[in-house]
Amino acid sequence: MTSEEICLPGMSSCAGQYVATVSRVRHLARDTWAVRVECPQLAETIVPGQFFMIRPLTGSDPLLGRPFAFYDVCCNDAGRPVAVEFGFVRVGKMTTLMSHWREGEQVSLWGPLGNGFPVPACEHLICVAGGIGQTPFLGVAKEVLGLAEYGNPPRQPATRPSKVTLCYGVRSQPWLAGLDDFKLPGLELQIATDDGSFGHHGYVTSLLRNQLQQNRQGVHVYCCGPEPMMKATAEICAAEDVPCWLSLETPMACGFGACFSCVTRVRVAADEWDYRRTCVEGPVFRADQLVLSDH
Ligand SMILES: Cc1cc2nc3c(=O)[nH]c(=O)nc-3n(C[C@H](O)[C@H](O)[C@H](O)COP(=O)(O)OP(=O)(O)OC[C@H]3O[C@@H](n4cnc5c(N)ncnc54)[C@H](O)[C@@H]3O)c2cc1C
Repeated sequence: MTSEEICLPGMSSCAGQYVATVSRVRHLARDTWAVRVECPQLAETIVPGQFFMIRPLTGSDPLLGRPFAFYDVCCNDAGRPVAVEFGFVRVGKMTTLMSHWREGEQVSLWGPLGNGFPVPACEHLICVAGGIGQTPFLGVAKEVLGLAEYGNPPRQPATRPSKVTLCYGVRSQPWLAGLDDFKLPGLELQIATDDGSFGHHGYVTSLLRNQLQQNRQGVHVYCCGPEPMMKATAEICAAEDVPCWLSLETPMACGFGACFSCVTRVRVAADEWDYRRTCVEGPVFRADQLVLSDH
């Protein structure tokens, strides 16, 4: 394992660059896999909502790494974090290549990157996930339910929410990924499919609406998924006066703030906005700060 540290202004923690080995590949759902990579330094420091960049160790196509949130941290028998697992859906060049990775594959990765979700401080945490946007919520749920610790030193919630709900929506049943992983004691799992093939028939945002109709006092919402779905979630939360955080999946090139390819618009005053880099100032933003588009 090699290591070089990247520390730039705006980064919440120093990122390392590592050569690491794939140790497990799991098929999670249609076009969806989970890959475990042995990298103790990353596993010890990464927190829910942070991400890392990954690319093949050799070759120049694709040249640029791609960003992935971590799905879980894996520990050895002594309880020491030794590996990170991430989930991905096949959409293009790199993810097609990754779908052929097997145990023993050598990869280059750098992280942890970005800010991550804040440690929840609420009565009821509702996570809203669209498609592969579910990946950061396994760590969020395990941390807040006291089932795992992340970061060095480990993050500790000041108070734990009395209720934790994951509203998870996909277009159709074959894309439901990792349902067994989300069977956690204390986690309420609600599922929606666009075509009604499993769970609630309709968008995941209707599950959120139902939850907020029952109670919105002390609720915080964390959301990750396609941008129109995150915009709808932000609008529902704004109408109900419920604090909401979004994790953006803006395509990016470097991951550590140098290239400015991942900028997003953030409100800086009532009628003013400015650009912020998703990779260092995000990927998690307060929803009421963002200027989101419909597509
Ligand atoms: C902070 C962050 C965390 C992420 N975490 C995950 C994760 O945990 N799991 C996961 O599967 N993906 C995640 N993504 C998205 C992932 O990085 C992209 O799917 C990946 O870069 C695609 O690479 P590719 O070479 O396969 O596709 P490319 O060949 O680069 O693109 C193929 C097609 O996909 C489209 N595309 C590329 N990136 C995106 C995107 N972000 N959103 C919508 N369309 C896109 C392109 O426009 C193009 O049409 C994350 C992105 C960010 C910024």
